[in-house]
Amino acid sequence: MIDIKNLSKWYGHFQVLTECSTSVARGDVMVICGPSGSGKSTLIKTVNGLEPFQQGEIIVDGTSVGAKGTDLPALRARIGMVFQNFELFPHLSVCDNLTLGQIKVLKRSRDEAVERGLRYLDRVGLLGQQDKYPNQLSGGQQQRVAIARALSMDPIAMLFDEPTSALDPEMINEVLDVMVGLAQEGMTMMVVTHEMGFARKVANRVVFMDKGRILEDCGKDEFFGAPRSERAKDFLARII
Ligand code: ATP
Ligand code: MG
Repeated sequence: MIDIKNLSKWYGHFQVLTECSTSVARGDVMVICGPSGSGKSTLIKTVNGLEPFQQGEIIVDGTSVGAKGTDLPALRARIGMVFQNFELFPHLSVCDNLTLGQIKVLKRSRDEAVERGLRYLDRVGLLGQQDKYPNQLSGGQQQRVAIARALSMDPIAMLFDEPTSALDPEMINEVLDVMVGLAQEGMTMMVVTHEMGFARKVANRVVFMDKGRILEDCGKDEFFGAPRSERAKDFLARII
């Protein structure tokens, strides 16, 4: 469903991604890990066209992301993205956060959008919180609202960029539990995370990046059992 072929990207003269290739099939849960600055966020943001790239190709569900004429807003509407810092609209209630994209982008009626938004709010364990504003919620709750908002758009895949790394430890699991549920239901996911417990539980693929290159791209058991590169071995030794 997501094919990345020989992807290279530069910020000015700095090459941030070098010939990255990988693919995500429907229902795959790919965990992407690697040291800070290795290009994980950049890679995931190229997939829904948030970051342009200079070489290579990305095909998402038959659409070439980098091609001229590709309707990026339409593509983004079909791919959910959840960031580290929640990124809810602070001036909108939870309910309005959940419905805005559905109404503006998918042209759903307000009633339909509310109905669907509340269904997903229930799903992340927050039904009853719809009239609050983001700053009245904990970080873990805000992140679950962000996930519910993304799901309300009926995405074909979900991208996560360190969704738990800004959370206090006691809130990490409430977000991971929602993600585990999604994975087990067959959602296609690319997840940048250092939560190796999550990776062990639900990932079927692990990509390890270093200095803009994909050094490992393998099954979970292979990655945790016998990573090939020294860099991945060092990385695992430090974080587990
Ligand atoms: P972290 O684990 O810290 O989130 P990361 O693996 O997500 O790191 P990226 O954020 O993708 O790494 O950044 C990769 C490299 O690109 C870093 O060296 C970073 O400084 C650089 N970089 C990121 N964004 C920009 C930008 N807008 N302009 C120039 N350089 C950038
Ligand atoms: Mg990052």
